[in-house]
Amino acid sequence: MDVADKKSIKDRYSYISRSIVQMSIALILAGCGEDASLKRQAELKVVEMIGKVATRSMPDDMAGGFHNIPIEVVKIADGVHQVMGIGNTHIISTPDGNVMFDTGISIQAAEQVKKLKPVAPGPITHIILSHSHADHITGARFWRDKDTEIIAHREFAEEQRYLTELEPYLHNRNRTVFPWMPEEPTDIEMLKYGGIEPTITVDENDYHFEQGGVQFEVLSTPGAEGADNICLWLPQKKILFTGDTLGPNFPQFPNVFTMRGEKVRKPVEYINSLNKLIALEAEILVPSHREHIVGKEAIRAGLTKIRDATQYVHDEVVAGMNAGKSVHQLMKEIQLPAELELTQEHGLVSWGVRSIWEYYATWFHFDSPTELYPIPVRDIYADLAEIAGVDTLMERARAHLDQHQPMQALHYLEIVAAKEPNNIAALQRQIATYEMILEDAINISKNNYEKDYMRTLISNAEARLTELNEG
Ligand SMILES: [Zn+2]
Repeated sequence: MDVADKKSIKDRYSYISRSIVQMSIALILAGCGEDASLKRQAELKVVEMIGKVATRSMPDDMAGGFHNIPIEVVKIADGVHQVMGIGNTHIISTPDGNVMFDTGISIQAAEQVKKLKPVAPGPITHIILSHSHADHITGARFWRDKDTEIIAHREFAEEQRYLTELEPYLHNRNRTVFPWMPEEPTDIEMLKYGGIEPTITVDENDYHFEQGGVQFEVLSTPGAEGADNICLWLPQKKILFTGDTLGPNFPQFPNVFTMRGEKVRKPVEYINSLNKLIALEAEILVPSHREHIVGKEAIRAGLTKIRDATQYVHDEVVAGMNAGKSVHQLMKEIQLPAELELTQEHGLVSWGVRSIWEYYATWFHFDSPTELYPIPVRDIYADLAEIAGVDTLMERARAHLDQHQPMQALHYLEIVAAKEPNNIAALQRQIATYEMILEDAINISKNNYEKDYMRTLISNAEARLTELNEG
């Protein structure tokens, strides 16, 4: 059996199983007629089933291990509860109804509803969505009542639009860093991304309201994970909900660039947002990923360090650009000083350097006129391999690997691959090179996206090697 047959059987199998799931959902929902609460319960049952299967298929060591976080209720303060998961979901209870901040990811919604609802019964009057990412908003339909207000940033609609429109493209990129994602975006209606229409939008003037004696301040804080980030501040309790504004680790260097795709995030806007948050003097910090943080001093110190590190890298890039340095030179040179050292698990400083450069100057770096035309250097690789000879190039690649220079080795191997894509020895050396890059990522940068991307490349290259060995 050749590989094409295997793939078509796999495709047919997943098509059949998808069809069965869709038919079952349609039958279950049809049985509920017009009864909204029955329908909600049936939907939650189906999602629970799908969620269990999806969670089981996730490997343990990927993407920072978010999917291994137990779905458990945490009391943050009186009347303030969280249920954890890939994305955390929060409810603030008031005598006049409940206000939510973020709603987690759809495949975990059933379990989150089951655990959090009994702790905070009563109608949901408002759902505040920290930003448009799927792990924060796709649970919303399972919480929303008929009259629930949906509060989001003014830029939410635009962010959701482009993420929806580019979904086929972004899905494939997302899968390289989140390899547990299904091969295609889901076609199950209730799990689909997008389609949320906020009823109240927040701009730079923020949005304040009061309900049942509790004051809510929804703050516009763009720049971290997109243009549509908002935070929620409860001034009476001094609790700050930050969504992804501070990312999944506190404190961390921000991800002003994400290799999953998405638009560049604006560094100076982010610094302004951090200044707004520092001024609040929060005593409890509640991000929408992982545990919350308690302690005014620790929160102030962490926020200040993130702000200063972002400012430092920004200013160094600007100074380097003005001094006529190249983007690659700055990627090599700029590092956080010891007093601003932060984890780069989520955002890598060198990628931040390049993003800030391109945010200001876009993609023409004035290094060579060839940058302006659709003929990349890769187009002459096969010729180069012909001239230099594959053996010589392979030898150079090995010499660089021996000196622990995987990038130089990879350039040589990509030249070889342009001429001889089926060269087994070259592919094996390429895998060894990827492994060296992964090893460095594990030991030095510790960046989760870098690690998972390399793991995906290794597993794709190994599959190709098996194909070639069998062929
Ligand atoms: Zn998130």
